[in-house]
Amino acid sequence: MLIEETYRHRGMRHAMVKEIRSQGIKDTSVLKAMGDVPRHHFFDSAFLEHAYQNKAFGIGEGQTISQPYTVAYQTQLLRMTPNARVLEIGTGSGYQAAILAAMGGLVYSIEYNKILHKRAKQSLAGLPLANIHLYCGDGSEGLPRFAPYDRIIVTAGAPQVPEKLISQLQDGGTLVIPVGDADTQCMLRITKVNKEKIIEESFDMFRFVPLLGKSGWQNLG
Ligand code: SAH
Repeated sequence: MLIEETYRHRGMRHAMVKEIRSQGIKDTSVLKAMGDVPRHHFFDSAFLEHAYQNKAFGIGEGQTISQPYTVAYQTQLLRMTPNARVLEIGTGSGYQAAILAAMGGLVYSIEYNKILHKRAKQSLAGLPLANIHLYCGDGSEGLPRFAPYDRIIVTAGAPQVPEKLISQLQDGGTLVIPVGDADTQCMLRITKVNKEKIIEESFDMFRFVPLLGKSGWQNLG
């Protein structure tokens, strides 16, 4: 379904980007992508009024589209470069995948919930963005079929850093993942210099929905 874009949407999006910038996001390529991608396109038409508020929002199936600030924060940490091969774990609405593609990424995104996967496919099909490949399944141990990746972003809270994600990173690659308990998670950035040298940095605390699956909080069976 194609949701129209009006001057009002553009105005609200501009205000959203301004707020994110005032919260400390400086990467101009992140701010540009968030100014370009119509976030309201990922909302049910009944909830369009919420699309440009700086907050997380329910997308059904007990899941949420991350707060715009959180999307910007994770994407900035990821240090995206055009043409980077990037894996996202937790497609959800598809919005984060769209941001990565708008920044020139070759995006692979995996979502275990079939209904959300299907819906994200429909939302993304209505946007003029190439290079997004969506998969349905447990992504807690990555998507080895298309590895190695230059960047991996996990958009659900993990109990620990899954080893298999690090092994699917290219040398010089970056993994951004929130790790903690069910209530709060610390944003980690893992840089794989090479197999022997892995650098881990910790950033702010966030609250994500849980990463399920084999290397997540519970086995999906
Ligand atoms: N990035 C999304 C927000 C994700 S919310 C967006 O831009 O809208 C987290 C998502 O992770 C949820 O949709 C949830 O279903 C999914 N998820 C949780 N565990 C998963 C797993 N093991 N593999 C794939 N997806 C998972």
